[in-house]
Amino acid sequence: MTKIGFIGLGIMGKPMAKRLLQAGYDLTCYDINPEPVRELVTAGARQGRSSKDVAEQSEIVITMLPNSPHVEQVVLGADGVLAGARPGTIVVDMSSIDPTVTRDVSAKLQKKGIVMLDAPVSGGEPKAIDGTLSIMVGGPQDAFDRVRDILLKMGASAVLVGEIGSGNVTKLANQIMVGLNIAAMSEAMVLAVKSGVDPERVYQAVRGGLAGSAVLDAKVPLILQGNFKPGFRIELHIKDLANALAAAHEVGVPLPLTSQVMEVMQALKVQGKAEDDHGGVVQFFEGLAGVKVRKS
Ligand code: NAD
Repeated sequence: MTKIGFIGLGIMGKPMAKRLLQAGYDLTCYDINPEPVRELVTAGARQGRSSKDVAEQSEIVITMLPNSPHVEQVVLGADGVLAGARPGTIVVDMSSIDPTVTRDVSAKLQKKGIVMLDAPVSGGEPKAIDGTLSIMVGGPQDAFDRVRDILLKMGASAVLVGEIGSGNVTKLANQIMVGLNIAAMSEAMVLAVKSGVDPERVYQAVRGGLAGSAVLDAKVPLILQGNFKPGFRIELHIKDLANALAAAHEVGVPLPLTSQVMEVMQALKVQGKAEDDHGGVVQFFEGLAGVKVRKS
């Protein structure tokens, strides 16, 4: 069975790594936080001592880290993947990061004969647990063909969208659509409540029509309970929108709506809500109108 290394066992990485273990892969894990590593070792994984150590023991190295600087450190750093990996190793970075950094890291790996794919995901913790993530991949077709079955143990779909960096460009587009959807839904629900209409019934009435969406179905039930436990933290969505704005400006694309949602999220961060789920964006609009979108 293919030897897989997994680095970054947070909200997403831990359940994704568990799925690979359940599928029978020989897995070596590492995280700077020892707690999830212990849990994975109990479930049957080997413990890596560093990112370098994980790479030395693996044919394929998967990373699931917060942002670009973490990926740079884990892959290119002194005790990193590049220092330990043999030529022919495939590095699959499943983190959502700046595509420019992806291309830079890939070029440095390539010099040692190591191939990189960027394969960020959409779906959040529940889909990571179920193994039904949507995976958007950038990189060479032959490397994709070699890891496709592994990706499909974590995702319901894995689509090769183009060359290296394309996975993260796709993820940024995804995050723009999700962020704007949440803001639109929040603004609309606040209008309904302040007008005296039950938000749960509004949701039931519109969800089958054109306004219905995966965002609506995932977030409205939680908002109605006032449940903003992450899930996907506002802080991480700010990171994605910052990457989207930077990547868009670099290629000459203004993002007027994205920049507004970014400022909404920045306001919530100032109010101490950066750790809330991104469904918590509704709280900004609730504050403007002085009502709450809750189950009556
Ligand atoms: P997280 O913060 O829960 O997990 C990140 C993990 O990386 C942590 O366990 C942390 O200890 C570890 N880490 C950080 N620096 C490290 C280092 N130098 N060496 C080893 N380990 C290190 O984040 P998450 O929610 O799991 O998200 C991971 C990525 O997936 C992010 O890019 C995020 O944007 C993306 N994502 C998250 C969700 C979600 O719903 N949470 C959904 C889709 C995509």
